[in-house]
Amino acid sequence: MNVLVVNAGSSSLKYQLLDTDTREVFAKGNCERIGSDMGIFGHSENGGAKQTEEVPFPDHRSAIARVLEELEKTDFTIDGIGHRIVQGGWHFDDSAVVDDEVMAEILEVAPLAPLHNYGEAAAIEYCREKYPELPNVAVFDTSFHMTMPEVAYTYALPKDVCDKYHVRKYGAHGTSHRYEWMMAKEILGSRCHRLLSCHLGNGASLAAIEDGVCRDTTMGLTPLDGLMMGTRCGSIDPATVCYLQREGGYSYQEVDDMMNKQSGLLAISGISNDARDIRTRASEGDERCLLAFDMFAYKAMQQAGSMIASMAGVDTITFTAGIGENDWSIRKAFCDCFEWLGVRIDNNKNREAVGNGPQVISAAGSAVTVMVIPTDEEYMIAHDVERLTKNN
Ligand code: AMP
Repeated sequence: MNVLVVNAGSSSLKYQLLDTDTREVFAKGNCERIGSDMGIFGHSENGGAKQTEEVPFPDHRSAIARVLEELEKTDFTIDGIGHRIVQGGWHFDDSAVVDDEVMAEILEVAPLAPLHNYGEAAAIEYCREKYPELPNVAVFDTSFHMTMPEVAYTYALPKDVCDKYHVRKYGAHGTSHRYEWMMAKEILGSRCHRLLSCHLGNGASLAAIEDGVCRDTTMGLTPLDGLMMGTRCGSIDPATVCYLQREGGYSYQEVDDMMNKQSGLLAISGISNDARDIRTRASEGDERCLLAFDMFAYKAMQQAGSMIASMAGVDTITFTAGIGENDWSIRKAFCDCFEWLGVRIDNNKNREAVGNGPQVISAAGSAVTVMVIPTDEEYMIAHDVERLTKNN
């Protein structure tokens, strides 16, 4: 089945047209700077060079319109469209074929992720208008986490407030964590039972997955919670928010921006949110960059401990996303913290596991199998489109 996967961010839109049987990617590209006067459109076919041009993208509708226009110039066929949606809220515990009711529910939960859901909904609406005969499937970052037990997802706040505003832990990166489980299970079979999935990219989260069911995750009501990230602070004392507003005179928007865009690796390193830049400076002895990595690994280790406890054990750990797939030092620092649990990595395998597909990096005799499994959210979304529409 040929599926167009649309991944709309707050100011960007990425797409891929792929075959779910062969995983061949026919075309892919991106629209950048949506909402500004002049955006950039990039498109490539059959693995060829990316062609770019400047295009005004006033909104997400204009971006998806440009993508469909470009694809219409090709001979590729589209059998269905899959859309990544950041927030499914309390409505969705699985991906869903889009109809009017699903659209209304995506918009109803949009206040929980206003920078994402409205743009994503606009892209779906355009696809439905343009190709009414094609199925559109919404794939939510949150739905995989809806299996968390009440003790894990409930915040200890007044119940009437939580009920009225739908305040609870929703998690994120669910499509990636689900892919990690699917691949680990495919490769390890019955040896994989309790998986700690570590998605370590610019955004980062952990998930505790027991027999395919999510028991807990580190992101919360929003993707700000949990691990220290590229520009996000992760878990801090919640009173910090009120303190900064009261004593520092910051507005809620300024605190929101600070915690989402000016914190994390960027704030601690003082130079960049990009792990590669920080690695270069750390290797030259820059103390702030060394601290940034130490903190990143420490916080990941500490929260991994709580994920492992929520499953009462772990037999498999997977690393994915930009840092998890590429930075062997972070993987080593993290795994060395779990020697007491019998985790042993093979240093050679760990160093060599860069961009080579799924790899086991644990040493023979390790009590826990440790793997690097490059994530493929686009494939997972396309797979859901096929799963939910094949027999209709
Ligand atoms: P992602 O959000 O998954 O695209 O991950 C982005 C993060 O991965 C950034 O911090 C990058 O610096 C980091 N990253 C990407 N490639 C590498 C690499 N080869 N070595 C270390 N970090 C990398």
